[in-house]
Amino acid sequence: KAKNASQPEFLQAVEEVLESLRPAVEANEEKFKKEALLERITEPERQIIFRVPWVDDNGQVQVNTGYRVQFNSAIGPYKGGLRLHPSVNIGIIKFLGFEQIFKNSLTGLPIGGGKGGSDFDPKGKSDREVMAFCQSFMTELYRHIGADTDVPAGDIGTGAREIGFMYGQYKRLKGVYEGVLTGKGLSYGGSLARTEATGYGLLYLTEEMLKCNGNDIAGKTVAVSGAGNVAIYATQKAQELGAKVVTVSDSTGWIYDSEGIDVALLKEVKEVKRARLTEYAANRPSAEYHEGKGVWTVKCDVALPCATQNELNLEDAKALVANGVIAVAEGANMPTTLDATKYLQENGVLFAPGKAANAGGVATSALEMSQNSERLSWTFEEVDAKLKNIMVNIFHNLDNAAKKYGFEGNYVVGANIAGFEKVADAMTAQGIV
Ligand code: NDP
Repeated sequence: KAKNASQPEFLQAVEEVLESLRPAVEANEEKFKKEALLERITEPERQIIFRVPWVDDNGQVQVNTGYRVQFNSAIGPYKGGLRLHPSVNIGIIKFLGFEQIFKNSLTGLPIGGGKGGSDFDPKGKSDREVMAFCQSFMTELYRHIGADTDVPAGDIGTGAREIGFMYGQYKRLKGVYEGVLTGKGLSYGGSLARTEATGYGLLYLTEEMLKCNGNDIAGKTVAVSGAGNVAIYATQKAQELGAKVVTVSDSTGWIYDSEGIDVALLKEVKEVKRARLTEYAANRPSAEYHEGKGVWTVKCDVALPCATQNELNLEDAKALVANGVIAVAEGANMPTTLDATKYLQENGVLFAPGKAANAGGVATSALEMSQNSERLSWTFEEVDAKLKNIMVNIFHNLDNAAKKYGFEGNYVVGANIAGFEKVADAMTAQGIV
C-alpha cells in the first residue's frame, strides 16, 4: 500500500478485487502464500513511460507523457486500450490495466491484461495536431507491441481517427501489416460491430441479469451517463430492446430528454460534429440541458454509468435507490465508488461491475484479432451473435461463481473470482515468472 500511496485509483481497484477474492483465497491459503500469487498479480510485469514530443499548429513544440503498462500475460498477449485524457497518470493506467486482467479472463478468450495512454487532450486539437501526437506516440510505443505480444485498442479520447494514425505509423516503422491494434477502420482490418460492441454488450448482459432475476429490460426507463462511444451504443441497444433512455452527459453538462434520447441526433452531434451536448438540446424540443452533474437524480429503473471512473458516488447511489432503481450496470471502468456499490447492493439493487458488463468491447477486439490472423472478415451478424453469446456466458459464469462461494446475487464477488481463477491457474502452471 505504501509503495502505491500516490495511486488512489489503483489502490481502490486492488482493494475491491482482493476483498471479494477472500473466499477463494481462504479455500487455498497455503498455496496462495507460498506462491505469493496476490503479490505477483498486483505487480505489473512491465511499465513503460516515455516522452511524446510533437509540434502544434503554431509551430510550438509540445511535450506529453506516454504510458504502457503490460500487467499480466499469463493467459495471452497483453490487451487493453489507450486512454488520451489530461487526467491520465501512471496510477490511472495501472488501475485500468489491473481491471483488464480479470475482464479479459472473463471473456473466455486468450488475452492478457494491459493498458496505456497519455495525458494528451485530443479535444480542441486539429486533425493535423492529433496526427502529429499519434505518430510521435507510436514512434516509441512500436518497439514494445506486436500482434502476438501486446495489442492496444481505443479508450477515452482514442477512437477510429487516432487508431488510424497510430496504425499507419506502426506499419511505416515496422514494415509489417499485422493486427497490432484493434478498433481499426473497416478498410484496413477492422471488425464490423467493434464500434457498437461495448454498449451493445452492456445491454446484452443487463438484459440477461434482469431476465434471470424475473424482470425484463423492455418498458424500463434508463439513465445513461457519458455521450461517447460506450454511451451512444448502450443508448441505441437499450432503445432497440424496448427501454426508454432519458439522459446522457458529458464533462460539462447533461441532457434530460422526456421523449427518449434521439440516437441519430446524438451521433451527429458527438461523432460527426464533435460538438457539446448544448448542440443536442438546441436541436431537440423535448430535451433540457443542465450544467454540471445530475444524471443520477433522475427517476429511472436502470442506471448505466458510461463516462469515467468514480462518477457515481454514495450520494448518487442514495438518490437512485430513493427513486426506485432496480439495476445498475457499469459501462465505464470503475464508475461507481466502493461505498456506493456497497449501498446499492445492500438495498437490493442488481449490480453488474464493469469488468463483466463492459467486457463486450475487448471481447470483440479479440474477435478482430482472430479475423486478422485468418485474413478474413466476418459479417456484422456473425460478430454480433458471438458478442451476445459471450455476454450471456459471462453473466452465467459470474452468477455461478458467486453461488459456488455462498454469495448468491453478488456479481462483484462472482466477477472477480471467475476472472481470477483462470489467471491464477495459468500463473501457477507457468512457474514463478
Ligand atoms: P469516449 O471518449 O468516447 O467518451 C467518454 C465520455 O465520458 C464523454 O462523453 C466524456 O465527456 C465523458 N467523460 C470523460 N471523462 C470525464 C470526466 N472526467 N468527467 C465527466 N465526464 C467525462 O470514451 P468511451 O465511451 O470509449 O469510454 C467511456 C468509459 O468506458 C471509460 O471508462 C472507458 O475506460 C470504458 N470502456 C470503454 C470501452 C470501449 O470499447 N470504448 C471498453 C470498455 C470500457 P467529454 O467529451 O466532455 O470529455
